[in-house]
Amino acid sequence: MKKIKLAIIGAGASGLCALKNAVEYGCEVVAFEQTKLVGGLWNYTDKTDKDDYGLDIHSSMYENLVTNLPIEVMCYPNEPFPKQHESFVSSAVVLNYYIRYAQKFNLESHIKFEHHVFRIRPLSNDKWEVIVKNLPRDMFVTYIFDSVLVCSGHFHTPYIPKSKGQEIFKGNIMHSHTYRSSKIFNNERTLIVGGNNSAVDLVIESSKNSKSTIWSHHLSPSPDMTQFERNVEEKSDILEIVSDGVKFSDGTFAECSLIIYATGYLYSYPFLSIDSGVLGGDYVKPLWMHCLCINNPSLGFIGLPNLICPNQMFQLQVEFCLTFMMGKKNLPSKDEMLKEMDSDLQQRWDKGLSSRKGHYLGHKHDAQLEYYNKLSQKASISPIMSCIVKMHAHAHHSRLKHFTSYRNVKYKVISEDDFEIEYLK
Ligand SMILES: Cc1cc2nc3c(=O)[nH]c(=O)nc-3n(C[C@H](O)[C@H](O)[C@H](O)COP(=O)(O)OP(=O)(O)OC[C@H]3O[C@@H](n4cnc5c(N)ncnc54)[C@H](O)[C@@H]3O)c2cc1C
Repeated sequence: MKKIKLAIIGAGASGLCALKNAVEYGCEVVAFEQTKLVGGLWNYTDKTDKDDYGLDIHSSMYENLVTNLPIEVMCYPNEPFPKQHESFVSSAVVLNYYIRYAQKFNLESHIKFEHHVFRIRPLSNDKWEVIVKNLPRDMFVTYIFDSVLVCSGHFHTPYIPKSKGQEIFKGNIMHSHTYRSSKIFNNERTLIVGGNNSAVDLVIESSKNSKSTIWSHHLSPSPDMTQFERNVEEKSDILEIVSDGVKFSDGTFAECSLIIYATGYLYSYPFLSIDSGVLGGDYVKPLWMHCLCINNPSLGFIGLPNLICPNQMFQLQVEFCLTFMMGKKNLPSKDEMLKEMDSDLQQRWDKGLSSRKGHYLGHKHDAQLEYYNKLSQKASISPIMSCIVKMHAHAHHSRLKHFTSYRNVKYKVISEDDFEIEYLK
């Protein structure tokens, strides 16, 4: 096994996992984190525009956020959250979990805080040049590494679909990335666009605080709208925005003063040079197993897929990448990796999914577990317990049916394969 010098970009949940394992695998490792803190987007800030160094605010965390997954699913393997009465907890509890994880494994000593990764490019000798800005000193420093794991998250560059008339709207248009508090809804006629977790949370908050709430989404089957505290009107796609409201594709019009797009994010890596071997955007390509760069396999990405058990998957992806980067196992040929990626993507396109779902694991039944099992088989590493994937599926489906009450349960692992549920209210 080769000893490698590894750079990790970011010290959020995926970067911490990468760091812990890289140290255990015997790598010489440095993690670069542009903020002063571990935990990534779980660090709430009121700011929405730039930080003290003029960098874009990274976190999309909002006040009073309660997790959309149970902590029994969210933990790293063999690292349970401290005992809690509830399964769904505040962002402060989650942040604390990451701080304790970093302390327990002495990870902070490997992290260069307030260091912004500015440019990463491959060199002709199979190494990577990493140019980093030391923010307090206002100074650029160049490092050379054998391998790089990108753990910079993918919920920071908003995707807002273009609609005719956006520029003439007299009210406010924003993305959920800059949503912080329900105060914003006071006296507004609000339209929320999107059907993912943030959209649902915002509809719930808006229904309690806005003058009126409209929800434009693609969820199918249509959710039970009687569960919201006050009336929420469902609408189809936006056809056109006018100065005081929105025309929808079903021919109806609704007056509104605030539009929030909870329409997801783009995969954006402004620090990767054009010759790094990957392209971002709707999804990152070409990657083997959604994490290893096929053109330059000493570059890996942790955490890209959606609809996942996050930290469990991070652990698998990190060990998978390290196994091949350190030569514990040999990579398949480039052609084989490309073929495997193409067939995996084709399954999504055949189902009619858009390119924005290139890393989406919910495209077929059991796809999540199948992906995890493949990672563990290919790299000969420990698989994840199937009860965790089952709890994820349970929480996901119950959220789709019972937006406002799915959190009132406590999950409990009872064996590798099984879990049980206690109803709290
Ligand atoms: C609103 C919201 C709610 C969510 N709720 C849940 C939930 O309930 N449960 C759940 O499991 N998941 C949830 N998630 C998903 C969550 O993003 C992941 O679970 C996980 O925390 C992501 O960790 P990460 O380390 O990959 O990314 P991040 O947490 O985004 O961390 C990336 C880190 O990289 C740093 N960084 C970025 N660029 C650079 C650079 N150029 N140089 C140096 N450092 C850099 C950032 O400062 C940051 O610290 C939610 C996401 C959002 C947006």
